[in-house]
Amino acid sequence: MSYTALYRKFRPLEFEDVKGQDHIVTTLKNQIKYDRIGHAYLFCGTRGTGKTTIAKIFAKAVNCEHPVDGSPCGTCPTCKAIAAGTSMNVIEIDAASNNGVDNIREIREEVAYRPTEGKYKVYIIDEVHMLSTGAFNALLKTLEEPPEYVIFILATTEVHKIPITILSRCQRYDFHRISIDTIAARLSEILKEEGIEAEEKAIRYVAKAGDGSMRDSLSLLDQCIAFYLGEKLTYDKVLEVLGAVDTEVFSGMLREILAGNVKNAISRLEQIVTEGKELGQFVNEFAWYLRNLLLVKSSDDMEDVLDMSSENLALLKEEAQMIETEVLLRYIRIFSELSNQMKYSSQKRILLEITIIKLCKPEMESTKDALVNRIANLEQKVEEGVSVAVTATTTQNMQVEKPIPAKRPELPKAIPEEVEQVVRNWKAIMQDMSGLIRGYLRLVTLSLGGENVLLLVTDDPVAADFLNTPEHKKEISDVIAERIEKEVEIQIQRNETNRPIEESYVDLSKVINMDIEVEEDL
Ligand SMILES: [Zn+2]
Repeated sequence: MSYTALYRKFRPLEFEDVKGQDHIVTTLKNQIKYDRIGHAYLFCGTRGTGKTTIAKIFAKAVNCEHPVDGSPCGTCPTCKAIAAGTSMNVIEIDAASNNGVDNIREIREEVAYRPTEGKYKVYIIDEVHMLSTGAFNALLKTLEEPPEYVIFILATTEVHKIPITILSRCQRYDFHRISIDTIAARLSEILKEEGIEAEEKAIRYVAKAGDGSMRDSLSLLDQCIAFYLGEKLTYDKVLEVLGAVDTEVFSGMLREILAGNVKNAISRLEQIVTEGKELGQFVNEFAWYLRNLLLVKSSDDMEDVLDMSSENLALLKEEAQMIETEVLLRYIRIFSELSNQMKYSSQKRILLEITIIKLCKPEMESTKDALVNRIANLEQKVEEGVSVAVTATTTQNMQVEKPIPAKRPELPKAIPEEVEQVVRNWKAIMQDMSGLIRGYLRLVTLSLGGENVLLLVTDDPVAADFLNTPEHKKEISDVIAERIEKEVEIQIQRNETNRPIEESYVDLSKVINMDIEVEEDL
């Protein structure tokens, strides 16, 4: 007998089985009940959150001969044909491989014919953001005047890539990441049905590793089951199969960092590498560990939220006493940023090593955060009775941090239209950039340099240098030009005024009343 992947085997066949998207299911069911079905839907959200699953159930429900309370009956010939994939009424298209104008023209020609049976022809276009510009234009014509028997369901993980003209013609539904509780409950159900015993802790770990995606969680569960076929699934086995790291390792690493012990911290990392752990995952999980620590630090009764063994909780509580909240927040910020950078880097280990060294030696950095860290270190030494020699670098940096009376820069007389467009579309523009550029652009303030020049100014010398290379500068210009359909001259500059950016430069995002509602959604 061939093996069916769990996520296929347990794919929900009716609305009631879909987990974690109640807000969408209720609305769609009501539309069917009250016969207010739309002609174009856009389903957006991360992978594995149920977009195509719901699309298929919806396709069944609108065609069902006797739907029950907005749900497909599952037993009429139409329902059966759709479930078996033999119905001509449900057409699934993967836009990743069918993204050309011709593919969409074909659809437009087909759309002219009424369905031979059932009420609706439902076109499900997955990964719709992959369509070419020409294909989008062709699709738009159909969406403008759809025949009453046609429904389009467009699904995408990257909604910011969908042209506004398409967006404006669709009912939009945002699929949420599914909570760990919801996923864990579903995994338990499935394991029970499969007759597999598993520790609650093991299940929760798999659910957490799926990061909000039911499909990913089920695939991970598949891997674990396959590896230990016929055995009880324990927490340790799951950790082993998924190449994950036990909490103890994080605890040890954190303690070395707090003690400023570079050598030990790096040799712990060495150990992790030798064991074949995936470093990207290590960073994500370390960030998660720090987040737990923050929870423990902020409240006494976090046991339920944290869901960890009493031994680990005891370690965590001890560490919570060892670290200042500000320092902890700095660590979390650094590790979250690192986690983004690692996705696109081929030098994961070096990035991680540099980060660990920086955390061990905050005196190497001069940001305000690092300063807080250093003060915390000094305070501790004072408490411990160690005499502290105030070094030149410490005082120097402290002077830099002295409050300077705030001064507002002069407002520009007029902002060129194209620059204004860039500012309004900044979020969408950022989304179109490649990984590292996007990361560094987050550190940038948009300002005006000269009459028609968009000035990107940052306090971060590394960001300034990185963005200023001809290649990166070109990508930024190109993405801007593509988005607003105009060339804009840009200049990238480090803030060398010795004053905060907001006192030396006009922050255009504050001057121009950004349409945040719309831009956030993109
Ligand atoms: Zn039916």
